[in-house]
Amino acid sequence: IDFTKASFKDFENIPDFDIFERAKAHEGYLNYLRENEFMNYRLLATSGCGPEIELAEDGYIKKGDYISFVCNDYLGFTQHPEVKKAVIAGIEKYGTGAGASPLIGGYFDYHKELEDKISAFFKRPQGSSIVYTTGYTSNSASLLCLLKKEDIAIVDMAVHSSVYEGIMGTTVKRFLHNNIENLERILAASKDTYRTKMVIIDGVYSQDGDIAKLKEILEITHKYGGVLLVDDAHGIGVIGETGRGAMEYFDVLDQVDIITGTFSKTFGNVGGYLVANNPDLISYLQFQSRQYAFSASASPNVIGVSRAIDLIDEEPQWQKQLWENINYYKKGLLDIGLEIGDTESAIIPVKIGDVYKNSLAGKMLLENGVYTNPIMYPAVSLKDSRIRMSLMATHTKEHLDKALNVFDYVNKKLDIAKSV
Ligand code: PMP
Repeated sequence: IDFTKASFKDFENIPDFDIFERAKAHEGYLNYLRENEFMNYRLLATSGCGPEIELAEDGYIKKGDYISFVCNDYLGFTQHPEVKKAVIAGIEKYGTGAGASPLIGGYFDYHKELEDKISAFFKRPQGSSIVYTTGYTSNSASLLCLLKKEDIAIVDMAVHSSVYEGIMGTTVKRFLHNNIENLERILAASKDTYRTKMVIIDGVYSQDGDIAKLKEILEITHKYGGVLLVDDAHGIGVIGETGRGAMEYFDVLDQVDIITGTFSKTFGNVGGYLVANNPDLISYLQFQSRQYAFSASASPNVIGVSRAIDLIDEEPQWQKQLWENINYYKKGLLDIGLEIGDTESAIIPVKIGDVYKNSLAGKMLLENGVYTNPIMYPAVSLKDSRIRMSLMATHTKEHLDKALNVFDYVNKKLDIAKSV
């Protein structure tokens, strides 16, 4: 294997290599990255998630505090005193685990309260939501359960990997990112061929930060008798006047058939949910979705989510502050001459293109105290490497100014603005 041209994806399956040989080749790749100081993954943090993070010493990384853009905790709720207080009180009352899966003893009133709050947050009646233990399984487990080979999943090319896992047992067609004509062509061709036709999109896309053309996609999906699922992991708390994501942004909150999402971003916790306009579907998933029925339910830590949901309405200042930060930071990056694409959310990509330069930029940013995520293939296509950043309401102007200065310096050294 030529490590200079390898990527993580290349180790998924190597013909004739058993699992141990594959793992050995993979270790060789990691060592190559470490030796060449491009090991920007799995960095060890020694403080909590936030706009500043302390990193442990590792290779070229010095122990110390870094300005951080790696937490998707957009409103800063992982550190909100009210959320922490609710979690501590919850743990005092319930202990640290649920002890069983939901059908056989692991369904507690704090789960029911959370389900009710999620249903209400999305303006649905009680019984409209199910809580999974990750956002990943909210997609993968529910889709595996719902879509069979007689059905079709029509997915935007840029949906999250959890969706791709969920549609492994059904027919799949991908449409060009946010391309309505392409979607319509596929829907028209599928109309009489498949049982359930499910169109699957994100509300806000996780790597470019752009927003789905939700209104048009909804109309066209329903026109051809399809069902729309929107994963708005990155939109909730960020877009829409009261933080209800892309559905609120386009004023179609009540019309989207299925909404999925995560607790690991704006809600500052871990877990995920699915909301449906059809309550029978929720009950069906509760009993038939294997990763729900045969897996322990969420720990009392999710009591923090119930508090965070209230805070979105009680303290709208966080969303407002987040948008001040987004607008300030985007302008600063554009003034430097950097390419940030079509982002309309708290996800800010600085597009570099070249994989090597991208890694090098990530390293230089870190060396100068700014912690970001260099993203490359297979998360994005080879030519689309970028530095990905998540903005938070709790970033200060000083954090943003310091980061912009470092970007200016890195750009002068590497000419990243011109290499896309
Ligand atoms: N959907 C999207 C769009 C995501 O970006 C992610 C990744 N965090 C997930 C789902 C999975 O969520 P979780 O981290 O809760 O598993």
